Amino acid sequence: MRYYLERKNIFTALALSFTYIFLGYLSINYVTMPSGIAIAWLPNSILLAFFLIKDKKEWKYFIPFFLLAEIVADYGVFTTIEALEFGIINVLETSISAFIIKKFSKNKEQNFTDTKYFLAFFLVGLNIMPMISAIFGALVYYTQIGTDASFIEFWRIWYFGDSIGILLLTPIMVIFKENYRSLKTYKFDIQNISIVGFSIYLAIMLFSFSDSDLLPPTTPLIFILLLLWVVYKQGMLPALLLAFFISLISIYYTSDLIGPFSIFGAKETTIYLQEFVALLFIITLFFGVLHKELNDSKKELEELNNTLEMKIEQKTKSLVLANEKLNHLASKDSLTNIFNRRMVDEYLLQEVARSKRHKDPLSLIMIDIDHFKEVNDIYGHQVGDEVIVKTTEIISSSIRVSDIFGRWGGEEFIILLPKSDLTSATTLAQNLREKVQNHEFSRVGKKTISLGVTQLTEDDDILSFVRRSDDALYKAKKSGRNRVVSI
Ligand code: GH3
Ligand code: MG
Ligand code: MG
Repeated sequence: MRYYLERKNIFTALALSFTYIFLGYLSINYVTMPSGIAIAWLPNSILLAFFLIKDKKEWKYFIPFFLLAEIVADYGVFTTIEALEFGIINVLETSISAFIIKKFSKNKEQNFTDTKYFLAFFLVGLNIMPMISAIFGALVYYTQIGTDASFIEFWRIWYFGDSIGILLLTPIMVIFKENYRSLKTYKFDIQNISIVGFSIYLAIMLFSFSDSDLLPPTTPLIFILLLLWVVYKQGMLPALLLAFFISLISIYYTSDLIGPFSIFGAKETTIYLQEFVALLFIITLFFGVLHKELNDSKKELEELNNTLEMKIEQKTKSLVLANEKLNHLASKDSLTNIFNRRMVDEYLLQEVARSKRHKDPLSLIMIDIDHFKEVNDIYGHQVGDEVIVKTTEIISSSIRVSDIFGRWGGEEFIILLPKSDLTSATTLAQNLREKVQNHEFSRVGKKTISLGVTQLTEDDDILSFVRRSDDALYKAKKSGRNRVVSI
């Protein structure tokens, strides 16, 4: 009860009631054939929209307002009892419809773009419930008011009018309620405005055309094409609004008995008009649902594609990394992390050729640790390894980045010095010799190296070049070790 008294809800209930009364007034005065048959009974559209949008728990607080609105709308036409009976029929019809549509689609949100929701709306909201309520409506007329039409005829008028009224406004109201926020960012473009403008112009021209002999009743079906275009380009809501305006125009003129539907008698004209309006909306809704489903699956596919691309990118990255690692492993010596013999051979080939081409000097230093066997013998192989590693570290820190330093074998190393002549190579060799000599190796203490230096000559090939550095090294060893010999 506390909920019932909230000011916001009373305001909503009053607004709904006034709309209900207003739609009733419109239906009777403007949407009715000269014979008195309402082409569309609009008030139920707002009831169904309300029940579809609002939660079941809140329904009961609003129902008294709807019944009151029916009594006000019928004032002067029907007695209060009759109006109350009509009100109960309408409220029951629309609330049961909404209940079943929500149950059927298992969708708590109001969503006309959901296939099940749309199907339930079509079957229950537009047909089954209006058919049932039409039986009760016709009964009230027959038992209490009396009418000239047959029971079946009256039942049909009630059922069609009710159904068309719901079709005209309920989807628009529900979709509008859901989307009004996104409407603020809605973009109109000239092409779509032209289509809508043209459709409305065409509708006025077609339905106000008085020489009906020239215009068959099938011509207005052209609007279906235009509506499909608007659904496709602009979405469901603009298309439904356009369908609404086309319907209003067709009803406005046809109720004056002009336009392409007016070649028949009053009864047939009404049926044609109702069928036309129904077609416009059903096809728009149906195509809208289809289009949304297609779009959704397209989006799903795109997302799948994106994740796939991301995965490929990740895999490629790790492959590149693995490749780099592999290259590193293939070119470096695992113990010392300087170039291995294979790489030194490759660089020798490359640098000898380059030096000859550019006539640049190229020098080579061959290095061997003195009395290394002793280290292994006294301290073991592992300590020997540590001495090898430390020696390469001392050398690495003293050469240029452009110098190529590699392990030639065992405890023998080679340095290729591009753009260095014999003098500067010898200076470097002396420098390295001193650095090693001055280093205190852990456990082992002092160790020395012998170095053979040579420069590439014009007549050299790789073999003679390397052999000469080897000879220089041999001489260094012979002449007492811990020294540099240049040839
Ligand atoms: P020299 O002054 O004449 O060079 O005497 P040396 O004892 O150093 O003689 P040589 O250069 O011929 O000795 C090479 C020794 O180095 C043989 C081998 O046992 C040892 N050696 C080769 N490779 C490795 C290695 O990777 N680790 C260790 N710990 N020892 C190695
Ligand atoms: Mg040695
Ligand atoms: Mg050796």
